Amino acid sequence: MTEIAATERLYRTDSYAREMTATVLTANALHGNLEVVLDRTIFYPTAGGQSNDLGMLEGRKVLDVRGLKSETTVVHVLEGGAPLEIGSSVTGSIDWARRFDLMQQHTGEHILGQAFYRLEAHVIAVNMEREICTLDLEQTISEEMVLEAERTANQAIWAGHEIRCYEVHDSEISSVPLRRTPKVSGMIRVVQISDYDFSACGGTHLKNSSEVGMVKILRLERVKGGATRVHFICGERCLHDYRFKHEFAASLGLKYSTGVENVPARTEAMLEELTQSKRDLGNLRSRFAELQINAWLESDGSVIARELEDATLMNDLVKACAAKSGAIGIFGARVEGRAMLAIAVGTGANTNAGELLKIGLEQVEGRGGGKPDVAQGSGAKPEGLTAALEAMRQACG
Ligand SMILES: [Zn+2]
Repeated sequence: MTEIAATERLYRTDSYAREMTATVLTANALHGNLEVVLDRTIFYPTAGGQSNDLGMLEGRKVLDVRGLKSETTVVHVLEGGAPLEIGSSVTGSIDWARRFDLMQQHTGEHILGQAFYRLEAHVIAVNMEREICTLDLEQTISEEMVLEAERTANQAIWAGHEIRCYEVHDSEISSVPLRRTPKVSGMIRVVQISDYDFSACGGTHLKNSSEVGMVKILRLERVKGGATRVHFICGERCLHDYRFKHEFAASLGLKYSTGVENVPARTEAMLEELTQSKRDLGNLRSRFAELQINAWLESDGSVIARELEDATLMNDLVKACAAKSGAIGIFGARVEGRAMLAIAVGTGANTNAGELLKIGLEQVEGRGGGKPDVAQGSGAKPEGLTAALEAMRQACG
């Protein structure tokens, strides 16, 4: 196989080029798609934590773009296997909205990385391939550092720093004040944000820091080895995030009939009220169950065998009955096509709740268990519930 010429990566010299013409070097059908190598391209292949471009080539969708730094060519994966003639001229365009968004994230990452660097927190990894970007810092950082880095980064964005990309040979790279030691040798591409930041990077960047618009840190995460993962977004993603959160907060304010600024305090107060209400309800249920058990003991004698209409009261009734010395409570309920059984045995009643339950479970084809004073179970045969309650009542003599 003869070696093919390299793909000239046009995005390196002009990251704002949206359209191009190029010549087809190779075109191979693979898995129902066509893999095309061109002599030049504006399509960025996934690398360095930045996602690949999408777009159109000769009227066909570009599904993926691949090209390792170590390789000389960039592969464009086109939808469908229809061939392209070697040597023919093709036109292509990138999805500009996607690229601009990716450049906002990527350029913002450089700016935020420098802001942390000034606080002696060093970036060891980045990822901008998801909706929320991340950078990993070697150090543990405080909330104060987060606020300070966020402020520094946004001020650098608003300062309107000019951004330039150029190549320097590795023998002379020590003259450039790079923030991180480059991973490559030979010609090294430097991305310089005025006098604010110098980084070695092969990605696509904006021309001016002001185009990033804004950077917002969303949260921190501890990762392996004591590193800190910073989750952040830049540019228009901040606007979307702000819009969502503003509408959310405003709608809560409307519901509470108060201003947005009062929503946190109002929510806190409501949660406290809810906790108190749950406590009050629990107390009322216990009190109600106790009164109910007293009434049943009076009408039924010391053995109560009842099918409950409201199964949610079962636990409270069991508790109340188990607290009555000499009382035995046998409770049943039908819940979602199943038979529920519960037994409560008060002190001195001389009956084992678990043993008693077994008799009832036979009638409802059920399973369950418990302690000598309290036992519970359920079965798949609710039509056996009446017979189960009666069998257990009779077993108590
Ligand atoms: Zn970069």
